[in-house]
Amino acid sequence: MHIEKITTGTHEEVLFCTDERSGLRAIIAVHDTTLGPALGGCRYWRYDGVEDALADAMRLSAGMTAKAALAGVPFGGGKAVIMADPQHEKSPTMMRAFGRFIETLNGRYITGEDVGVSPADMAHVAEETTHVAGLTTGRFASGDPSPITAEGVFRCMKLAAAQVFGSDSLRGRIVALQGLGHVGLSLAGKMRADGAQVVAADMNAKAVEAARDLGVQIVAPDRILTQEADILAPCALGGVINHESIAGLKVRMICGAANNQLATPDCAQELHRRGILYCPDYVVNAGGLINIAREALQIGDEDWASDKLEAAVANFGELIAWAAKDRRPPLEEADAMVQKILQDGWRQSHAM
Ligand code: NAD
Repeated sequence: MHIEKITTGTHEEVLFCTDERSGLRAIIAVHDTTLGPALGGCRYWRYDGVEDALADAMRLSAGMTAKAALAGVPFGGGKAVIMADPQHEKSPTMMRAFGRFIETLNGRYITGEDVGVSPADMAHVAEETTHVAGLTTGRFASGDPSPITAEGVFRCMKLAAAQVFGSDSLRGRIVALQGLGHVGLSLAGKMRADGAQVVAADMNAKAVEAARDLGVQIVAPDRILTQEADILAPCALGGVINHESIAGLKVRMICGAANNQLATPDCAQELHRRGILYCPDYVVNAGGLINIAREALQIGDEDWASDKLEAAVANFGELIAWAAKDRRPPLEEADAMVQKILQDGWRQSHAM
């Protein structure tokens, strides 16, 4: 196993690992550990090269720092990516090699599932390191984080709807939902139960079928971002909100689970100028992190996660109320709060 340090001006530690025997090519990005060890999932994805994978790991890990800070969990931000390679399919051997890679960080990074990684993969990682969460067995196992993520997005969506439409009920609202995966499908069920009309897109035939059973109307993936609706819920991959897609949006608010929805930070300003309320992704999708934090902290009480989620949702309500009062995008308000929390945390950890 060969591990190379990559120097960046923004992250505490970024490591690139290659393991010839298993075919593992992975990056661990530790963004900021002011508030605790870096916690963040591992993504298995086909990247267009190392630069692309590195950019994704760095962006995602920075998002985790912000997410943990605002969710009030004592963790920093980190993320890992495994570069999928058709020559070396994902295997237990590869996941075990990844576990050994994590072990070299001595607990500075704790992993979990993200897109393309299953609880079964995590079980192989756990054979080599204890710095892993999102397991399905064991005393503190937190399992699939998607249901609690969906619950958090749903509750934040209702709060935002109250601000934008004057009622927190989704009855009669049209929601355009991109992605019917673990979170998207669960969110679709909640929105339908609340009376929303849901129009969704996904390329996965099984997911589409399951959504149809919930009474969801399906459109082609290339039509979802221009759908005439009240709310857009991005629940697929990041970067979908860019200057081009913003021009075609026909919604009044955006609230979804996908990480890094904005291609560039200035998109928040443009959405604000156009009168579209953008609910910051890392604030509304923190449920999964809260769930995994319980396991990483070895807290047996399951109410801990629901109490934390409730607090995070209440914070989101305050955040959008302040943003409205200050006439600024909620993302600016959230970013400022994160900076303050990190500065206070840094001062506390350096106080003698
Ligand atoms: P998932 O892989 O289960 O689902 C993603 C779905 O999006 C898949 O069904 C895929 O086919 C679909 N998809 C991909 N590109 C699409 C496109 N262009 N148009 C329509 N559909 C498309 O992932 P998930 O766990 O549901 O997570 C969804 C998003 O939420 C990801 O960005 C993830 O990082 C983020 N997130 C997830 C959690 C969690 O608890 N799972 C927590 C926080 C954030």
